[in-house]
Amino acid sequence: MQKVLKEASLHTAQFQKASQMGCPSGCSLCCLKKDIFASPLEFLPFAYHLYKADKADAFYDELELRPDNTICGIFTPLSLDGWGCTEYEYRGLICRLFGYSTTSDKMHQKRMVTCKTLKETTAYQQVKPVQLIQAPSFQDYYMQLAAIDFQLANESLPINQAIKRAIELVSTYYSYRGNKKPA
Ligand code: SF4
Ligand code: SF4
Repeated sequence: MQKVLKEASLHTAQFQKASQMGCPSGCSLCCLKKDIFASPLEFLPFAYHLYKADKADAFYDELELRPDNTICGIFTPLSLDGWGCTEYEYRGLICRLFGYSTTSDKMHQKRMVTCKTLKETTAYQQVKPVQLIQAPSFQDYYMQLAAIDFQLANESLPINQAIKRAIELVSTYYSYRGNKKPA
């Protein structure tokens, strides 16, 4: 899963460079959406990171206290460094692809999955069809998830539930199977 996440980030960065598209500094408006869905697989590396740091239970409990239709629990609205993702290195696949990836419509035409802010930029308006072919494809990346675990890949959950499920999976694996805690 870590390999897929890294590949998605690199692919997005390559497309950004080629298209000259880029988010305004400190934007993060897409993280404020209350309808982000993800597969638990996308957050297994984050859950593993929490588990190794003995923070999995505490973070799980924090998420439990949140209402279902709220913003991502990893987002901080206010900190000394500003607002944004507090675990950027461990963000999900959706977070890495959104804004700079494509999906194919019924006519097999590629369309960008992006936001209003980016659509208003000159760079977006000048993206050529040939460049779209090189952009990360949502379908391709989610097929890679399905190849890792078909069932989990198809669990599309509100983002906080996906994170909780990932924590449950990691904690269960280490707690009940007698597996040693990772170093
Ligand atoms: S994808 Fe859009 S909403 Fe998200 S950070 Fe970039 S410009 Fe802002
Ligand atoms: S994991 Fe980070 S990038 Fe993804 S929605 Fe949450 S705060 Fe935003």
